[in-house]
Amino acid sequence: VPPFSPTSPAHPPAPDPSLKSRVRLIAARVLASTGLARVLAPGPACASVLLYHSVAPAEIGAWIDQRNTLDADVFERQAAALAESGRVVGLDDLLRRLERGESVSNLVVITFDDGYLDNLTVAAPILDRLKLPATLYLPTGHLDRTEEQWVDRLHSMVRTATSAITDADDPRRAYGAWCARLIVADLEERERLLADAAAKLRPDLSSRPRTVMTWDEVRSLRDRFPRFGLGVHTADHLDMSSLNADAARAQIRSCIARFAGELGVAPKHFSFPYGRSTPETRDAVRAAGLASACASSPRHWIAPGTDRYWIHRHVAVASSTAFGLYSSPATGRAVERIVGLP
Ligand SMILES: [Zn+2]
Repeated sequence: VPPFSPTSPAHPPAPDPSLKSRVRLIAARVLASTGLARVLAPGPACASVLLYHSVAPAEIGAWIDQRNTLDADVFERQAAALAESGRVVGLDDLLRRLERGESVSNLVVITFDDGYLDNLTVAAPILDRLKLPATLYLPTGHLDRTEEQWVDRLHSMVRTATSAITDADDPRRAYGAWCARLIVADLEERERLLADAAAKLRPDLSSRPRTVMTWDEVRSLRDRFPRFGLGVHTADHLDMSSLNADAARAQIRSCIARFAGELGVAPKHFSFPYGRSTPETRDAVRAAGLASACASSPRHWIAPGTDRYWIHRHVAVASSTAFGLYSSPATGRAVERIVGLP
C-alpha cells in the first residue's frame, strides 16, 4: 500500500518527536496533571508571551499544518480563561513595565504570527468580545504575493496527494525530511522544493481555501479591532539565523518599508520566523529602529532585565492541561527548571 493515496487520512502526521522531547512532554504532563508543578513553583514573578498561528474551524484548519492551527472552540475556551484571570496585557504595556523596572508578575501577552485570514474572521472577534489585546506579526512578502506558508502548502499537497511520495518512503519521515530542507531554504530553493513535492505528489488543490490575509484585510483588522496591534515578521519568512548579514538586513528593511507603505505608519515590533535569531540579527532589528523582537531564548520567562529584543514565546497548544502549564508563569518556571520545557 503506498504511503499516500486518494484515500489517505485527512492529516499527514507531524514529524516524529525525538525520544528526549517525548520524555519531557510526559514529565510535563505528569507535573501539570498531578498539580506538582504548582507545589514546586518558586512563586510567580515573571510574565509569559503566548504564540498562536491559525485559529480556525475544522474545515479551514484541515488545510493548515496541524502544528500551526488551533480549533476555534479550543481557542475561545483559552481566551475566556485568560480573560477571567485578568492577567492579559498588551505588548506595549508589558514593555513599559519592563522599562520602568515594574513587576510583570503573572502577566500574559497574546501574539499571533504569519497573517492567517482566520485571525481577522475568527480570533479577533473572540478577543474583542473579551476585551483582550493581542499583537499580530506579518510576513509582508507573503501578503504581497498572497502566498501561504510553505509548511501549509506542503501539508495541503500531502493531504490531497494522488500519488505516493515514493514506494519506499515512510510518510512521517518523508514529511519531516521535506520540512527540514524547507525551513532553511532561501526563496528560490523553497519554490524548487515545493515544485518537486508537487510533481511527486500530484495533489488536487482545487478546493483549497485562501488562508492568508490581503493588505485590505489587514486594514480591516486595524480599523475594526483596535486592540489588535500589528508588527512585522520579516518579508519572506526565512530562517534569519542562516542568512548572511546583508540578506538578513534586507529582510528587516523590506518588511518595515512594505508595512509603512500599506498602513501609513512604521511598525514597532518584530518577531523572528521559527524563533531563530542570532546576536547579530537581534542587533540589526534594534538598529532598524524597532522597539522589540520575539525570538526563542533559553530563558523562557519574562522578568525585569529581560532583553526586549529577545522575548521568548510559548506556543499555545490544544491540550488545555499543557496550555495551563505554559500560560502560568509560575508553573512554567518550575517546569523549565525540572524538565527544560517547552
Ligand atoms: Zn512565522
